[in-house]
Amino acid sequence: MTVKSFHPPVRTLMGPGPSDVSPRVLGAMARPTLGHLDPVFVGMMDEVKAMLQYAFQTKNELTMAVSAPGSAGMETCFVNLVEPGDKVIVCQNGVFGGRMKENVERCGATAIMVMDDWGKPVDPNKVEAALKANPDAKVVAFVHAETSTGAQSDAQTLVKLAHDYGCLTIVDAVTSLAGTPLKVDEWEIDAIYSGTQKCLSCVPGISPVSFGERAIERIKNRKTPVQSWFMDMNLVMAYWGGAGKRAYHHTAAVNTLYALHESLVMLQEEGLENSWARHARNHQALKAGIEAMGLRFVVDEAYRLPQLNSVTLPEGIDEAAVRSALLNDYSLEIGAGLGALAGKIWRIGLMGFASNEKNVLNCLGALDAVLSGMNAQINSGVAVKAAKQAFAQ
Ligand SMILES: *Cc1c(COP(=O)(O)O)cnc(C)c1O
Repeated sequence: MTVKSFHPPVRTLMGPGPSDVSPRVLGAMARPTLGHLDPVFVGMMDEVKAMLQYAFQTKNELTMAVSAPGSAGMETCFVNLVEPGDKVIVCQNGVFGGRMKENVERCGATAIMVMDDWGKPVDPNKVEAALKANPDAKVVAFVHAETSTGAQSDAQTLVKLAHDYGCLTIVDAVTSLAGTPLKVDEWEIDAIYSGTQKCLSCVPGISPVSFGERAIERIKNRKTPVQSWFMDMNLVMAYWGGAGKRAYHHTAAVNTLYALHESLVMLQEEGLENSWARHARNHQALKAGIEAMGLRFVVDEAYRLPQLNSVTLPEGIDEAAVRSALLNDYSLEIGAGLGALAGKIWRIGLMGFASNEKNVLNCLGALDAVLSGMNAQINSGVAVKAAKQAFAQ
């Protein structure tokens, strides 16, 4: 068998990630590969760092891009800040809090779970009760934007609570970065990680992370070495580090970093606040269409993420058949429910480059047509008009 070159179809990606990638970002990726210690490449890394500081709204010196996806950013935070025998308060209100628990336990530490219903934000009162009951806890970890449900938690309040009880914080901002307000310094977040493939609309495979002073202190004063050689920040910094000479640690994902650089240039051009506003505006129009159709949102408006829309199904409709029809007939990808919400909802992403007027209208039009074709109990033919009206306001 002779295998030929792979040419993927052109899709519109409106699921929970990856999101659509701009042609500018894809173009940047095709530029010539440089050596990972080439001075020109190192100069570009410094620019990536400065732009990540802007995206995170932080002056943290230890801000960099891990050469692996968001999950590796998560693991980087946990392996560096958690030692065997530690107690960590982990908030879970969806899939990703469960992964934090896994990470804590694999570090040889104990996870104290604070559970909230899927679709609800983390409840600060429950977190405070856990902090009171566990005065020896060292870290509080939570997900800012829970992609499995579309609920946003109040990061500023949770961080303040953790600090009141002498704990550091690890925050998952994989889906929030560039999509909704996130202010690492103002909110005093100690360690944070994100991903390139959600609201930054870069290709998957890179995880921006940032560590503040208190976190660095903790890492320097560890009693045991970081269990992961690859993610040990003490070693990685010799490569990504500040003013000092760079030494080989691993070969950076050179061309993927060109892509991240370009997506961050685009974020700068647009302006962070404008990016947040665009995500909010496109959500409002999608919401107008979805509700006109007669479908409902899973998450209350007060803490709903604009970039991840969990929507209920019409009575008696097979959700997977609808997603297949959208993919096959419209080349449009939306997401399924996970865990407790599997088979019960769709997750429509409006992330990064995919958060635009055209996608909102096309998605509503396609969903309307597919559901009407299945004789679903919806108000047919009104969704696109409602969204257009919302855009016109
Ligand atoms: C997507 C996601 C991750 C994992 O990122 P990958 O790039 O898939 O490894 C972690 N946390 C949240 C909240 C996410 O949405």
